[in-house]
Amino acid sequence: MKAEIIAVGSELLTPFRQDTNSLYLTERLNDIGVEVTFKTIVGDTREHLVQVASVALSRADIVLFMGGLGPTEDDCTREAVAEALGLELRRDPNIVAGIERRFAVRGWKMTANNAKQGDVIAGATVLPNAKGTAPGQWIAGRYEGQEKIILLLPGPPHELKALFEEQCWERLRSKLPPQFIVRRELKVTGLGESHCDARVAPIYQRFPDVQTTILAAAGEIQLHLQCRADSRAAAQQRVDALVSEIEDELGDSVFSDNGDSMEQIVGYYLEMRNKTLAVAESCTGGLVAERITSVSGSSRYFVGGAIVYSNSLKTALAGVPAQLIEKYGAVSREVAAALAEGIRQRSEANLGLALTGIAGPTGGTAEKPVGLVFHALAGDRSTEVVERRFPGDRRLIRWFASQQALDMVRRTLL
Ligand code: AMP
Ligand code: MG
Repeated sequence: MKAEIIAVGSELLTPFRQDTNSLYLTERLNDIGVEVTFKTIVGDTREHLVQVASVALSRADIVLFMGGLGPTEDDCTREAVAEALGLELRRDPNIVAGIERRFAVRGWKMTANNAKQGDVIAGATVLPNAKGTAPGQWIAGRYEGQEKIILLLPGPPHELKALFEEQCWERLRSKLPPQFIVRRELKVTGLGESHCDARVAPIYQRFPDVQTTILAAAGEIQLHLQCRADSRAAAQQRVDALVSEIEDELGDSVFSDNGDSMEQIVGYYLEMRNKTLAVAESCTGGLVAERITSVSGSSRYFVGGAIVYSNSLKTALAGVPAQLIEKYGAVSREVAAALAEGIRQRSEANLGLALTGIAGPTGGTAEKPVGLVFHALAGDRSTEVVERRFPGDRRLIRWFASQQALDMVRRTLL
């Protein structure tokens, strides 16, 4: 079953208001196996609304309109949908009387424009709105010979949610064949987006029933996999099969197959291997420690660390010899290694992690440009140093550096 959502309201076409209702509706429709294939935002212009309604009715099984059911001149969803369906509007005196009572309770008199909220599309079921005046409507109609379910829902989010939960969701579920949507998310690091896609596209092309979306985020790529089937087990089986083929192809570049963050995964490995970690951070200024400690329970494996921004603190807190800094410079392979070894020794952690680099935008030279970062990880037997040149602004460079540092810990403990 395919659904299409139409958000009605000229305010949603300005920079000041966002359509949030469709996110909620999409989630609830997915819960009953209904995919949303199009979302449209249209202003309060009857002619445009009729156009959008006609297109949606021609290609979706379920069409949900929200907004434009109020009393004002610009609210014209009822009229436009009736026109697109070729059906009449009939004023229901019971609805009008109900609105009059709502006003009377507050000691107000209903203004005449409110009466149009009693206009019902021929054959529609009225959905009373407990939280507002404009009722919704449920139409089981035909369009170009096909059965359609059409819902008119109020725009204010609290009214829409209450009405949809109480009167639409269960009813929709009971009318549709059982269908299930299963999702999984893989997270990949250390590969570019196009490189990753080139390697996985031949695989996911063999799974046409699994929708695959590749999203590039800072320092990681997310692969969102979604499958719809008539049983949960069947959908799960297809998604799992695709996940396992992608994992075989990408190997340890995949750091999570259940949506966990890099810092969660690092914590998981440290705990599993019974190792502790300490950090010495220069260019990231504590970002790595912040990420690690954002995970509840991190005290079990994270002992702490030092922000060694100045040369003197690199010496005082991590024991880096001043001559080493003088000889190679603070941003160097040698100083990164000495930082990692020094913090490991002083903190008595199993692993010492360190970063030193140039986050910019100032401070770069031809030899040591902005974006150059040395990452070091010291263990009991050896110290590994990785040199990277990250693109982007200061915020991104620092984030990439923290991601690379955490990934070194992950790969060491794999
Ligand atoms: P209406 O039903 O068109 O009178 O909508 C009234 C209120 O609901 C306005 O404040 C809108 O900004 C809000 N609203 C309408 N549609 C949406 C939507 N799709 N997402 C979030 N808010 C909405
Ligand atoms: Mg409106």
